[in-house]
Amino acid sequence: MKTYFTVGPSQIYPTLQEHVKKAMELEIMSLSHRGDTFKQLFHNTVQSLKQLLNIPEDYSIFFLSSATECWERIIENCVFENSFHVVSGAFSTKFYEAAVGMKKDAQKYVFDGQEFAIETISTDSELVSITQNETSNGIMIPMQYVYKIKDSNQDKLIALDVVSSIPYVEIDFSKVDLTFFSLQKGFGLPAGLSVLIVSPAALDKARQVELADNDLSTYRRFSNLKVYADKQQTFETPNVFGIYLLSKVVEDMLSKGVQTIREETEEKATLLYTFFNSSSKYSIPVMKEEFRSKTVIVVDVKDGSTDLLKKLKEHGIILGAGYEAMKERQIRIANFPTQSINDVKKLLSLL
Ligand SMILES: *Cc1c(COP(=O)(O)O)cnc(C)c1O
Repeated sequence: MKTYFTVGPSQIYPTLQEHVKKAMELEIMSLSHRGDTFKQLFHNTVQSLKQLLNIPEDYSIFFLSSATECWERIIENCVFENSFHVVSGAFSTKFYEAAVGMKKDAQKYVFDGQEFAIETISTDSELVSITQNETSNGIMIPMQYVYKIKDSNQDKLIALDVVSSIPYVEIDFSKVDLTFFSLQKGFGLPAGLSVLIVSPAALDKARQVELADNDLSTYRRFSNLKVYADKQQTFETPNVFGIYLLSKVVEDMLSKGVQTIREETEEKATLLYTFFNSSSKYSIPVMKEEFRSKTVIVVDVKDGSTDLLKKLKEHGIILGAGYEAMKERQIRIANFPTQSINDVKKLLSLL
């Protein structure tokens, strides 16, 4: 078995094999999505996610297919005309482009990891999108910045992409309206399922948008998602298997304790950054420590990353290459709950 430090899909959660076996025994894949057993599963999954991430009771949780879908659903449901996007890398650019593609008047502020000009975010737009952790380049926007943006834009919706920082990142949901993530990164689950957490204010906004736009109705209008979520169901036949595995991994994380997960993440991040800072073969492209991701460590490799990745692979260790143009110059290392301290130590001994 290989050890994956790739940033998504990544190493699977250590207990996943056991849960897959159990799911087969329980015949989860043949379970009716209208039956009581599924409703109980849906209910349990939502409740344990709320417990793990400290999500307020009156926030709704919707299951969609990917974070990519969340970008579109958020724009479709919550924006009449204009949105504002903090663009800090490739994924936030895609969120911005989704809004442009849906014919919204989309504005952006480009953040390169140096100075965060928070005063420029004050905006007339209906929604501000922030990618809390840029998986493409390792730029992290601390939550205090997100809260400040909300504080100076009280009547705007804040959309927050936490795909590659959850469950490490701690979120005060009273200051965020649309939080989303897919599961093949920090949760160590299969791809193809995502979670969107929606505030009451965002649901209200979606209702207004829907009323004004009454010749457009899709099955993933928030009103429809909400009607079904209230019945512990989904409109379509959902990824029941994925939801089952999610519920099990969240239970495992709850018994481990989210605080322990966060402490271990920081411990591993410190090991990694200390090593790269002290080696002349490597450097960290995100200059300011404040904006360096704890969960996606991006490193410049002086001699190029291609041979290094090949060598590590011979030892059964799979790292991420740099993103697109940086493919041959950088490495990206996932520091999710699934990568153990021993895995990190083994990796460092080979670097
Ligand atoms: C991977 C990733 C996405 C896209 O996730 P999909 O599940 O492939 O849609 C979006 N945002 C960030 C920050 C990501 O890392």
